[in-house]
Amino acid sequence: MARLVMKFGGSSVADIDRIRNVARHVKREVDAGHEVAVVVSAMAGATNQLVKFCRDISVLHDQAEYDAVVASGEQVTSGLLAIALQALGIPARSWQGWQIPLETSDQHGSARIEGIEGGPLVAGFKAGQVAVVAGFQGIHPASGRITTLGRGGSDTSAVALAAAIKADRCDIYTDVDGVYTTDPRVVPKARRLDKIAFEEMLEMASLGAKVMQVRSIELGMTHNVRIFVRSSFDKPEDIDPHRTPPGTLICDETEIMEHEVVTGIAFSRDEAQISIRSVEDKPGVAAAIFGPLSDANINVDMIVQNVSADGKTTDLTFTVTAADFERAKDTIEKARSAIGFARLDTAAEVSKVSVIGVGMRSHAGVAASAFRALAERGVNIRAITTSEIKFSLLIDAAFTELAVRTLHTLYGLDKA
Ligand code: ADP
Ligand code: ASP
Ligand code: MG
Repeated sequence: MARLVMKFGGSSVADIDRIRNVARHVKREVDAGHEVAVVVSAMAGATNQLVKFCRDISVLHDQAEYDAVVASGEQVTSGLLAIALQALGIPARSWQGWQIPLETSDQHGSARIEGIEGGPLVAGFKAGQVAVVAGFQGIHPASGRITTLGRGGSDTSAVALAAAIKADRCDIYTDVDGVYTTDPRVVPKARRLDKIAFEEMLEMASLGAKVMQVRSIELGMTHNVRIFVRSSFDKPEDIDPHRTPPGTLICDETEIMEHEVVTGIAFSRDEAQISIRSVEDKPGVAAAIFGPLSDANINVDMIVQNVSADGKTTDLTFTVTAADFERAKDTIEKARSAIGFARLDTAAEVSKVSVIGVGMRSHAGVAASAFRALAERGVNIRAITTSEIKFSLLIDAAFTELAVRTLHTLYGLDKA
């Protein structure tokens, strides 16, 4: 007997038939004798709709009320799945974040989990009950207000719950059968990975691969939760309980015997570039630029500063997310007299392509071959950043797919 967390994303609970299908997947594990806590997302598209309602009522809305609204999608699916399980003769009940409670910080819209009371769920297991937990939501204990964990946050609910109840495994059921070398919807030649190291998955997720929320991987890494990404679209009846189903295990680096130099490629179209021309080349200028951005809570990603040719002025380029673009431009314009510069050049149609692999630690020249391959295809690189296990390139958005496919082939990731 094992204790399992099974998480089902939005497309897996998109309608009544799919919810019934999920119930049969849960039944399969219950019949095998396992204790099960299920975490569900809202129906596909439901959260987007709720977010839009908030924006339509008022662009600058109260974030605590935003959470009250957007958390409701998961309340619906948790109740429906409990009903579907009961209809199959399986004792089950729904749990909202506040009922568990799943306690969080008070950063509404992107709250962090601070504690989970696993006792009542475990007591339910002992009585043969399946716990159906509404993902994405929690409660800030001091204010008693409902919070949400940021978009894609049900992954984080699931991994945190697995850690709290000491589950043997956290299965993430989604609309693809695992983690691929890159988004399989964009590159049909992408290959499924049997295993991926936490650190690599963390980079993949933070650099744009939507399949897992970043925070869920951080938690998995800290608490050593075994995370298995698999498809909810397989028929529950066709699954052989004695064989490992298709999927990807996210695990410790030491569990992976052979490391390729490159494991995967992530990309994000959600970028914008700001170049400040002819800034005075003197101490304190970077602080004058990035201080106000940080005060405005704007995250700066890539930063490139040219070496000044005349010793007097230089150009400085950085990127922000598309969502912060207008505010970032505004912030720099307002700080213009303190910074002192000639001109702002900006580009919203840019994207970031990143190449990831722990094998890069011990291999030189990985990035150099990318520059060559992209140059041959006429793709101009606007900015570059590197770290131990990844490098990222900023390019024109129109070339995103071409660049991803080119690099995917270059590093031998295409499936045979
Ligand atoms: P869910 O609703 O189950 O949480 P998501 O839409 O959040 O599912 O994540 C699954 C999607 O992530 C896939 O449909 C796929 O298009 C996308 N994706 C992006 N990069 C990858 C990757 N490297 N491997 C697998 N899927 C990826
Ligand atoms: N329903 C939420 C969202 O769409 C959380 C999730 O699906 O993980 O972002
Ligand atoms: Mg998701």
